[in-house]
Amino acid sequence: QAKAAGRNALRLFDPGVLAQMRARTELETELRHGLARGELLLHYQPVVNAAGTITGAEALVRWQHPTRGLVAPGEFIALAEQTGLILPLGRWVLETACMQLATWAAQPAMQSLVVSVNVSARQFRQSEFANQVLAALRASGARPQALRLELTESLLLTDTEEMIAKMEQLRAQGVGFSLDDFGTGYSSLSYLKRLPLDQLKIDRGFVRDVLIDGNDAAIVRTILGLARSLDLQVVAEGVETASQLDFLRRHGCQAFQGYLFGRPAPAAMLELAMAPVPA
Ligand code: C2E
Ligand code: MG
Ligand code: MG
Ligand code: MG
Repeated sequence: QAKAAGRNALRLFDPGVLAQMRARTELETELRHGLARGELLLHYQPVVNAAGTITGAEALVRWQHPTRGLVAPGEFIALAEQTGLILPLGRWVLETACMQLATWAAQPAMQSLVVSVNVSARQFRQSEFANQVLAALRASGARPQALRLELTESLLLTDTEEMIAKMEQLRAQGVGFSLDDFGTGYSSLSYLKRLPLDQLKIDRGFVRDVLIDGNDAAIVRTILGLARSLDLQVVAEGVETASQLDFLRRHGCQAFQGYLFGRPAPAAMLELAMAPVPA
């Protein structure tokens, strides 16, 4: 026992662990300040339909750090979740996406676009979440029908009834819901049937090897069949090649997102991509 404790104590002072802890604390402090100083920004990645027309965009947060450069969410979202910073951060994302939607509503080429916003578990579980979304819509003047919230399966596994009630409350106002990274969680068919969803997003991990891995191909076909029987729209994420697109289309997928169509980029880039071609 004492020996084990001694070993643990030693581990705590391992310079590697200490350095890691320090780096984490530093990143947290910087993120807190970065949020306050307006260093966060949203990029938008197009979602296209079977005809190749852009019908929507996913808002993806980035951090323009003064010295680290443009930091991807993979480097700070988990930390933000652990520290609770995700609450102000997520709220900022919602408000900013709604303001962008309102701006686009005034532009003919952009006004029918649906914007998807990622919502983290901790954020969605706040009791005031629904009111926060409705307030962001009201303050910006954005149409609720143009906003889609992306949730993950794990978020809905506990307190499912409460989560469904929250979704229903927002859906009654016109807000849509998408299940992100679908296929990586544990959803059963009966469970999925109970969720008030509009859309499933096939995780890009399955799309990547869909042509070379029979298991991934089977999973993608199953998800597409499942979505058809539940009357849900499907978006395939991470489409990078024409042959992946071809496979997905042949199996009935109707919406696509991936580098083949466009990388996440500032709002102005999406406007450029959607501008009518001058005569
Ligand atoms: P996600 O919601 O599944 O978003 C899709 C991710 O796949 C994005 O990464 C996007 O850039 C990337 N992606 C799209 N197409 C391709 C492709 O063809 N090839 C490859 N290799 N990647 C592609 P990103 O922007 O780094 O975001 C990573 C994750 O961070 C997101 O995954 C989401 O879970 C989270 N995230 C991003 N923004 C927010 C946010 O505002 N709030 C919260 N809570 N999470 C966010
Ligand atoms: Mg997403
Ligand atoms: Mg995803
Ligand atoms: Mg993901």
